[in-house]
Amino acid sequence: MIQTNTRIIRLMLIIALLTSFKIDYTKQDDKYQKVRQRMVREQIVARGIKDQKVIQSMNNVPRHLFVPENYERMAYEDRPLPIGEGQTISQPYIVALMTEILELKPSMKVLEIGTGSGYQAAVLSEIVDKVYTIEIVEILGKSASVLLSDLGYKNIYSKIGDGYKGWEEYSPFDAIIVTCAPSDIPKPLEEQLKEGGKMIIPLGGSIVQELILLEKKNGKLIKKVVAPVRFVPMVRQDGKRY
Ligand code: SAH
Repeated sequence: MIQTNTRIIRLMLIIALLTSFKIDYTKQDDKYQKVRQRMVREQIVARGIKDQKVIQSMNNVPRHLFVPENYERMAYEDRPLPIGEGQTISQPYIVALMTEILELKPSMKVLEIGTGSGYQAAVLSEIVDKVYTIEIVEILGKSASVLLSDLGYKNIYSKIGDGYKGWEEYSPFDAIIVTCAPSDIPKPLEEQLKEGGKMIIPLGGSIVQELILLEKKNGKLIKKVVAPVRFVPMVRQDGKRY
């Protein structure tokens, strides 16, 4: 009996030690906390973002860990950055704007198309119950998923695939966020959006697009133009753009 107890205590100690390592890992890398707070103040709050959940989340997520090492020091600048494979992580303000406009609640289930670095997924995951994210470039999707789990995000489900088709198995979604630009609204995404749900999507040509907010009311999409934006195109498996 005593022996079993000792064994249990030892096991608990090991678990405690392993968990504390993980927390340390994030804290240790948080030399950018002040820079990040300034980014939130000057780029996010000053431009009119008001949702406290979004502000809090942008204050929490260590953006510098989502960019390639050689861009680490630029991670909190007011601009998008390359993340490899010709793709980019969006400018912080655009991430905040797209997140706020969805009017997210903690109980919600959100689908993201274009995982990229995993940054937007992390920002969402601090706000909602479950995040589903799809990336077409295997190496990006895989490294984002490793990073997100290393950072302790447990409510993000990711897969490699063509996001145009959505993720039917887990549909309908309360909200859909598309971070690559097709020329038209993907039909499967429209179908997988819940009644009353919102989708934010950049639509247009390969150079410039319009950020569009769609709301499903009585089975139909109501469209609102938000801002001119520039995203990488949504592509098919063969590399051609949608
Ligand atoms: N949300 C990302 C930024 C995404 S950049 C972040 O926070 O870092 C857009 C991403 O969409 C790229 O990684 C690109 O590979 C991906 N993408 C392009 N077409 C896609 C498709 N059909 N399905 C899924 N992802 C796609």
